[in-house]
Amino acid sequence: MLTDSQLLRYSRHIFLPDIDVTGQQALADSRVLVLGAGGLGSPVLMYLATSGVGHLVISDPDVVDESNLQRQIVHRADQVDRLKVESAAVQLRAMNPDIELTLQPHTLSSEQLHEQAAAATVVVVGTDNFASRYAANQACLDTSTPLVSAAAIGWEGQISVFDSRRDDSPCFACLYPKGDDTALNCAESGVVSPLVGVLGSYQALETLKVITGAGHPLVGRLQVFDGLAGQWQTLTLNRQPACPVCARR
Ligand SMILES: [Zn+2]
Repeated sequence: MLTDSQLLRYSRHIFLPDIDVTGQQALADSRVLVLGAGGLGSPVLMYLATSGVGHLVISDPDVVDESNLQRQIVHRADQVDRLKVESAAVQLRAMNPDIELTLQPHTLSSEQLHEQAAAATVVVVGTDNFASRYAANQACLDTSTPLVSAAAIGWEGQISVFDSRRDDSPCFACLYPKGDDTALNCAESGVVSPLVGVLGSYQALETLKVITGAGHPLVGRLQVFDGLAGQWQTLTLNRQPACPVCARR
């Protein structure tokens, strides 16, 4: 049950007919696994924390580097050299002391990932490599947990939701069938700061929709954002019958 103080705190959610008290209670009862506390993970964590998601599990093996501060807004300058999960926790606890945090200062093993995905209402991935995305995809498929995925590089980003509870939902491997770990990452190619804010905030929005049942999550759709042109494109994503990962589910 939400307290009087929580009813006030979340009143602007509760005013929305698609959320209401029922949706806010669903947020309070939910547990979200966030993979990566970097550029995308920062707005994801901050919006999910202030939105009243009851339990956040944060996994990231890295420490805060000075070059992260340009865009990884959950980390403050006085947290440089500290583990990102601990740095994020300082900020998130200050923003909302009510929420529970579980910190995983390492890359989750396949077994740990399956355990955490099974316990999670939603998994959000914003890491900088394909290997962790394939691992998250597999764990989410095996545990029927929705996966909110986004990526951002340079001036461009993309986002989609994979929800294997739906028969028609593609998986991440339907979109990217082959492992390509030579893919660009921010450390090598640069990224404009607010771009990760646009995509990470959108991930938080999709996560709230999945948890509360509001609207239509981006299942079967990939949205691609071109920050230089100021354009969004929506691509239809179909399940691939020959997908090596989800064909036989
Ligand atoms: Zn697939």
